[in-house]
Amino acid sequence: MNNFFDAKVKWENAACQGKPVNDFYFAEEVRKRIGKNEQITALRELCSSCPIFKGCLSWGFTNEIYGVWGGMTAMERLSFTNPSMTDVKQSTLRSFAMYGITQMDIEEARTGEKPIFKKSSDGVGYLLDTGLLPHQVADVLGIQVDSVMRSIERKALKKK
Ligand code: SF4
Repeated sequence: MNNFFDAKVKWENAACQGKPVNDFYFAEEVRKRIGKNEQITALRELCSSCPIFKGCLSWGFTNEIYGVWGGMTAMERLSFTNPSMTDVKQSTLRSFAMYGITQMDIEEARTGEKPIFKKSSDGVGYLLDTGLLPHQVADVLGIQVDSVMRSIERKALKKK
């Protein structure tokens, strides 16, 4: 059990109070087949501004194999521990990034620890790998886009 749960999630502050529980539980396959993607987008928007977002997401990762928790579906949660689901993970991260939630936020909720980067360029690489564009990475880290571009060039040179 991780820190967020230990710190006691204040469920009484949930932004979804009064919403039908069924909105949060639907099979992934059904969602795709009958076009419930709009529903998950609406939930993601609601959850990303919820005051207990991280605690809820953390609870979902730790305790739940069904349902949407912290705006993330069961299959999306699974993609963070299943290497064969990289595509699902990347699209999940891109979707959350639209609401200002980074992979660092998600990893923190998932593991209870802030990812630590040895060098600032590690953070750039980490965020680029989530599918964020260079200017978005610059925004998240509060650095110039030029610095992001230099990191990309250095990485490319190392690969040669
Ligand atoms: S993060 Fe979403 S599912 Fe969790 S309590 Fe808040 S609104 Fe409800």
